[in-house]
Amino acid sequence: MISRSEVKHFANQSPRFDDMICSLPAGPKTPGLMVGETRKVMAIARKFNEEVVRPYALELDRTLHENPDFLPWDFVEKANEWGFYTMWIPKIFGGKGYSMPTMCYFVEEIGSACLAMANLIGVHYLGVSTLNATWNMRLISRLCRDIVAGEKNHTPCLVTLAITEPGAGTDVEEIDLVDKGSVTCQAQKVDGGYKINGSKIFISNGHLSTWHMVIAYADLDKPSESTVALAVKTGTPGFSFGRKENKMGQKGCPASELVFKDCFVPDDLVCMDPAQLAKNKRPVREINMQMIDYVVSATRAGVGAFATGAARGAYEAAVKFASETHVAGKLLINYEWAQCMLAEMYKNVALSRLSYVETNYANGIYGFFREIQKKPMYYYYKMMPVKWLEKMVSSMTEKAWATTWFRKTQFDGQTDEEICRTSGWASLCKFAATDYGIKNCHMALELMGQAGLRHDRGTEKILRDAKLLQIYEGTNQLNRLNLFKCLVAPEHPQAVVFEE
Ligand SMILES: Cc1cc2nc3c(=O)[nH]c(=O)nc-3n(C[C@H](O)[C@H](O)[C@H](O)COP(=O)(O)OP(=O)(O)OC[C@H]3O[C@@H](n4cnc5c(N)ncnc54)[C@H](O)[C@@H]3O)c2cc1C
Repeated sequence: MISRSEVKHFANQSPRFDDMICSLPAGPKTPGLMVGETRKVMAIARKFNEEVVRPYALELDRTLHENPDFLPWDFVEKANEWGFYTMWIPKIFGGKGYSMPTMCYFVEEIGSACLAMANLIGVHYLGVSTLNATWNMRLISRLCRDIVAGEKNHTPCLVTLAITEPGAGTDVEEIDLVDKGSVTCQAQKVDGGYKINGSKIFISNGHLSTWHMVIAYADLDKPSESTVALAVKTGTPGFSFGRKENKMGQKGCPASELVFKDCFVPDDLVCMDPAQLAKNKRPVREINMQMIDYVVSATRAGVGAFATGAARGAYEAAVKFASETHVAGKLLINYEWAQCMLAEMYKNVALSRLSYVETNYANGIYGFFREIQKKPMYYYYKMMPVKWLEKMVSSMTEKAWATTWFRKTQFDGQTDEEICRTSGWASLCKFAATDYGIKNCHMALELMGQAGLRHDRGTEKILRDAKLLQIYEGTNQLNRLNLFKCLVAPEHPQAVVFEE
């Protein structure tokens, strides 16, 4: 009826089969154990919500409203005690080694109760993911071990990503824009390291973190080709914290300014710079984008999961209110119009979740997780006792060839089509889920009337918190453009993206 070559022919027509059926090939390739892992992670999150998050969410929001300088060390210490800052740190470095996709379900759960607290945990992995995406095995090992030690010593060791600058937010997340933007944070090569000057703003968890993955540029006229990723420790001379933003939402999670004045970072804390990429086939400019893409393709799925949590929190508040409130002698939940609204909200939650699940599948077969999620690798890694891994594998991470090998596999080994698929899906998830999150907040407030506006109901807080999700990790407009660039433009050669 149809030949193989015909299947191939139709598969490459728009929309390409691979863009349509991501989860179909990913399903059988996904290790079965991940199902149990995911259920466990969700249960832990629900327990934490019951014991810690729900009782504290409104109080934390109010505390910050009254005192914007408050730092939620109490919560961070609690999350550290529960082991959350090492949960997604690889076992070979002493972490608990949960699979990365399970984190989305975790932050959806926490986010459904409080987005600020979800971010206080989740954004640590934005920093860790950036470190991992440089594939600098020696530094990954060093920082991860610090994080693990921080858990053992009851002194939380968190990591940030510091990329946004006062004059460049959207621009620094997109290689085609960065050279047109006004970046000012410079990493100047000096004897034995780099000297950083400039500042970073809106850095989540800044004041609470020990390590900062700072993205700076050696040549401010050509940042796309001179990106330098540095690990900077709090307390390093020349590095200080500036102001802490007084934001409309997610108040519990600080957004900090990081200031660098002749801050010297030695070569052994340089995670990635153009000189280190000399052995790669891909040009430095493309690798710089790939590094950012590895991070945001995973973390935009995470923002989608935060947003699913917000959509769910709003839905749950609305359905509770409708089940308890009588209007004109009848329970609100028994009005047909209210039932249609609640069904719509339920749909928004489900579709948001599907968008992060699909993005995780894309990352699992084409992106960040594609090696570790291969079944033999996954089971080997899961089943091996930590002591054995320590003895056999850990020492290898110190060798320069390990970094070279990972960079060759990950940077040179990923095709342009694979990059587009993961990055495009992550953007789709980011703007779809965060828009649904806001939509559900509006619907909940509409359904609840004046009750929804009261602080003690918690619903107005979800709206204030959710609005931020449309902005960070690239505004939703930027993510729409990125989807166009990755999934639409390749099939329409006449389309020009990010034109002057
Ligand atoms: C709560 C919060 C936490 C954050 N946490 C971190 C963090 O931990 N680390 C970090 O590095 N950063 C962080 N950020 C920064 C965040 O990533 C940026 O705010 C985001 O990327 C948008 O950049 P911007 O705010 O500078 O907006 P701008 O880039 O100034 O954009 C302003 C407007 O112009 C539009 N626009 C910009 N460029 C284009 C273009 N080329 N074409 C069309 N439209 C365009 C945008 O869509 C937007 O509408 C955080 C931000 C917030 C709000």
